Amino acid sequence: MNHDSETENKGNILLVDDIPENLQLLSDLLLKLGYTVRSVTSGRMALKTVNVKRPDVILLDIKMPEMDGYQVCRIIKADEELRSIPVIFISALDDVFDKVTAFKSGGIDYITKPFQIEEVVARLENQLTIQRQQRLLEKEVIQRREAEEVLYQSRALLVSILNSSLDGIVAMQAVREPTTGDIEDFRCLVVNPVIARAFGNRREDMIGKLVLKKLLSRLDPELFARFVEIVEMGEPLERDFYYPSGESCWYHFVAVKLGDGFAITVRDITARKQMELALQDANQKLEKLANLDGLTQLANRRCFDNRLEREWLRQAREQQPLSLILFDVDKFKCYNDYYGHLAGDDCLVRLAQAVQQEVRRPADLVARYGGEEFVILLPNTDVKGGIKVAQSIQQAIHNLAIPHEHSNVKDIVTVSLGIASLIPRLEIEPDTLVAYADKALYQAKEQGRDRYCTNSG
Ligand code: GH3
Ligand code: MG
Ligand code: MG
Repeated sequence: MNHDSETENKGNILLVDDIPENLQLLSDLLLKLGYTVRSVTSGRMALKTVNVKRPDVILLDIKMPEMDGYQVCRIIKADEELRSIPVIFISALDDVFDKVTAFKSGGIDYITKPFQIEEVVARLENQLTIQRQQRLLEKEVIQRREAEEVLYQSRALLVSILNSSLDGIVAMQAVREPTTGDIEDFRCLVVNPVIARAFGNRREDMIGKLVLKKLLSRLDPELFARFVEIVEMGEPLERDFYYPSGESCWYHFVAVKLGDGFAITVRDITARKQMELALQDANQKLEKLANLDGLTQLANRRCFDNRLEREWLRQAREQQPLSLILFDVDKFKCYNDYYGHLAGDDCLVRLAQAVQQEVRRPADLVARYGGEEFVILLPNTDVKGGIKVAQSIQQAIHNLAIPHEHSNVKDIVTVSLGIASLIPRLEIEPDTLVAYADKALYQAKEQGRDRYCTNSG
């Protein structure tokens, strides 16, 4: 409390006495001591002035004409607004002074005349101190009420957020080992309805009881350590999480430190995740389709070009031979003309299947190069190996014995093959290998078809 203001105004005192000299004496003494004093000479004036400006204490004479002190006191005490003002009766010894009546009419204390100023001040101060403390108490009560209101409002806000959130919200508190202080587990402080539903539990049954370690030990034991880090380091954690329950199985969560624990919001992303997975799947299928020839189900030209590029670099690095067989159906135009285009297609499919059966090393690739032309890529294979594969293909196609009446080569479908083989070098284009094979193929055609030729540059 400010000392200056205390000496400046120690309290507002209202003096009521019908004898002006009495008033004057007391008033002078009190003013000197630093009190603010108002004096009135009748009960009526006293009642009037208390309504205008509230005194802290009233010093009230008993014996007055018209209206005595008891009456004045009773009126004040009957007034809701004024009754808290303490009234100290002041009365001469020769007055017919009834202490019982003084208290009954509402007086708090009394002083008899002639008085000693020390006694008056002591009794006044008593009342003023009580008043000050009362005022402080009232102020505190108001402040507490305001704080409670704020608290209530924020609780209501929190509850409404928790209840209306589409995400699951949980607050966890660390459970620490008493001697080491290490986090042993987490206990659930708050759960919202979304979480309770997901666990098929009532919120009341989860709060304080649900512990994290056991739950995580089944799902992802590593995650427990990450939650401990959130609390100890203050680092937030965000990630997707797989937890199959009912229709849902994928969740995304964000966990942030909250007090000696953490708050976590959990969103069901099952639908999104399923869409992502379906998209991934579709992309894979599309990728496969993009590399596949629709008619023969062999790899297509695009796939072959990519593989050639890769194998070229790899074989150049490893300095290993790379062979390529390009082969083409003999007199296929005639075949189409005579048997029809659909039969032509059918023939290509059968050839493709037969060739694929002959080329079974995982690194080898059979592809449809275009039209009735096929290509086979043979990594780590020299020209001898290439010839072997070419021969086996030629034999396999003979074995199919697909009639081809209008071929001037044979009366069955045959192919001509060009084999190219070399050890790739980075300064040479991969297409060189195809060009070599094409040249060999041309030779085979020239030399009468149904045969293979080789070209190693
Ligand atoms: P050669 O022995 O010189 O290779 O004679 P060819 O008749 O096979 O050669 P040419 O290039 O003159 O004709 C190729 C034919 O292959 C022409 C085309 O009608 C046929 N052809 C190409 N692609 C397909 C296909 O996908 N289906 C069918 N049915 N025929 C095809
Ligand atoms: Mg051709
Ligand atoms: Mg042909």
